[in-house]
Amino acid sequence: MTAEIINGKEIAKRKKQEIFVEVEELKKSGVTPGLAVILVGDNQASQTYVRSKQKTCKELGMHSVLIEYNESVSEEELLRKIEQLNIDGSIHGILVQLPLPDHISEMKVIETISPEKDVDGFHPVNIGRMMIGQEAFLSCTPYGILVLLKESGIELEGKHVVVVGRSNIVGKPVGQLLLNENATVTYCHSRTKGLEKLTQAADIIIAAVGKAGFITKDHVKQGAVVIDVGINRNSEGKLCGDVAFDEVKEVAGYLTPVPGGVGPMTITVLMYNTLKSARDSLSKLQRT
Ligand code: NDP
Repeated sequence: MTAEIINGKEIAKRKKQEIFVEVEELKKSGVTPGLAVILVGDNQASQTYVRSKQKTCKELGMHSVLIEYNESVSEEELLRKIEQLNIDGSIHGILVQLPLPDHISEMKVIETISPEKDVDGFHPVNIGRMMIGQEAFLSCTPYGILVLLKESGIELEGKHVVVVGRSNIVGKPVGQLLLNENATVTYCHSRTKGLEKLTQAADIIIAAVGKAGFITKDHVKQGAVVIDVGINRNSEGKLCGDVAFDEVKEVAGYLTPVPGGVGPMTITVLMYNTLKSARDSLSKLQRT
């Protein structure tokens, strides 16, 4: 028996159609959701991600602004721009494409974005709110994974989830989100001992390591759900995930491909967060 391949592209398409309809509805009240993306430098991957975000905004009838800076931009100038966007009524979401050059503090940049416009869900306020189960902007990749699991009809309550990776943008928040859904969560990282034994005990494995083919069939219990977050290039330069797809699909019950799994969900959820922010700003206006 081979795994059911979770089609992230298809699920994202469905979700985007729903967002499109809701954007049209919101526009009737005079509000067009607006996303500002700040890009610093000429990192190829960042440019691709930013273009894709802008294209999706357009497809969904949202307003999008791209602010580009040279690699040498000062931290002060960048922070000033964010402050302007924080009070710009046509902008509901602000995203600074990471990574940033070394002379700019990513944490300072993230903390300058108003938590109400932090559609990437990286601000400590949003992370804190998520931790205690309050309404918050949820980080896009973890939230995308949650939607992917739910849309695929995968039960989470009481399930043992093993997250491999503990970064602030993927591993930690995805584990917390799944804990909020009543899963039992184990985190693994580079100092974990006996990783294989731990992942073998998982009903659901989330692989967020950043190493091509890291999770092999020996890590996976028969019938387990395997979510591959990794975006890597293999020795032939081909895009691939953290999971050795061909062998793991013979063991897993469900498996996400790379590309076409988690990736398309990340951007969809970003659009959803921007829509939500625009809706929240309208409700606030209506209350005053
Ligand atoms: P990081 O490099 O920040 O984190 C990698 C994690 O993997 C760390 O916690 C590290 O442990 C852990 N790790 C490294 N080696 C091992 C090992 N041998 N055994 C167990 N754990 C290990 O990466 P990110 O979280 O930012 O990203 C992970 C992957 O996901 C990347 O391929 C990235 O490109 C991709 N990604 C995909 C997105 C999408 O939309 N699909 C979005 C964001 C990222 P330690 O903490 O101990 O160092």
